[in-house]
Amino acid sequence: MKEMPKPLEELSSQALLRKQQIGRVASATLRYLTSAFSSRGFDWLLPVVLSRSTDPLWPDPDNSIEKRLEVDIYGETVRTMMSMIVHKQVACSIAYPRFFVLSPNVRIEKRDRKTTGWHTYEFTQFDFEIRGASAEEVMGLIEEILVGLIRHLRKEVKSELVSLGRFDPLKVPKRPFTVHDRRSLLPKYDGDEWEWETKLPQDIEYPVWVTNIPMEFYDFESPKSGRWDNYDLIVPRYGEILSGGRREWEYDRITEKLARDGLKKEYYALLLKLAQEGRLKPSAGAGIGLERLLTWIVGANHIGEVQPFPKVPGLVYNL
Ligand code: AMP
Ligand code: MG
Repeated sequence: MKEMPKPLEELSSQALLRKQQIGRVASATLRYLTSAFSSRGFDWLLPVVLSRSTDPLWPDPDNSIEKRLEVDIYGETVRTMMSMIVHKQVACSIAYPRFFVLSPNVRIEKRDRKTTGWHTYEFTQFDFEIRGASAEEVMGLIEEILVGLIRHLRKEVKSELVSLGRFDPLKVPKRPFTVHDRRSLLPKYDGDEWEWETKLPQDIEYPVWVTNIPMEFYDFESPKSGRWDNYDLIVPRYGEILSGGRREWEYDRITEKLARDGLKKEYYALLLKLAQEGRLKPSAGAGIGLERLLTWIVGANHIGEVQPFPKVPGLVYNL
């Protein structure tokens, strides 16, 4: 059983020191990521919190949502962001061909996820999208930036990594990262559809890609081969820190997939309208879960440790 992260006011002086060191690694990580993307021509957009459309998180097999938050404002129903995927596709198609956004996500995870040490109910995605990009381009970019980040942190916050016991274990990954098609993993993990998600992280020393994962309607699925053009990045010991993919942009495909997934068309009315008018453009991107990235970097015992105000499923703290 994992020890639950304590709120700031209950930390011992030693635990507070650790929290502060994690905070410095987090700041250095944010500085590096925002400048690495900015210097590669990405615009930095501010996030959205309430909207008619959000990620359905369905039928993603990894999702486990206890409650979907909806609130009435001005006589209309809006939802809190579970991810900005719909906004990313629209923004990327119409106005910003390369951008990133630090996007707060609220996902009321089932309370049994309290002990995974890997789930929170409020987290931030470093979310980005590139018009016209291929999956390979995005994967290459992420590899380059992740390698740069680890190399940078090993200099910039060396003393913090040393005290956190992470300087030696956190090796600079080598490119290209290993890529596993999900189907190739099935025989290795007893043919079980999803066992690789928990077992693969225990079998690797460096981050690896898993591609071709059945996901939500917006990830591109080849109508001919049925192959999903998407990718998850898996880090040793912990698991998935990033999901991304090339996107569907054609009206017929999106409508078919919404119907297949049993999703309401009216939640995606604008996306469909733009697709019908030919204004939705092909794009690819990804979202990095910042708290998960940091959990791996600092070797946290529980993801709530990297949050100044932990949001552990099933627990509501005073702040
Ligand atoms: P998804 O679109 O569901 O793959 O989410 C994108 C990324 O957000 C994932 O790869 C994780 O890094 C992160 N993420 C998803 N759910 C959670 C959660 N409950 N707590 C923390 N991070 C999460
Ligand atoms: Mg995912």
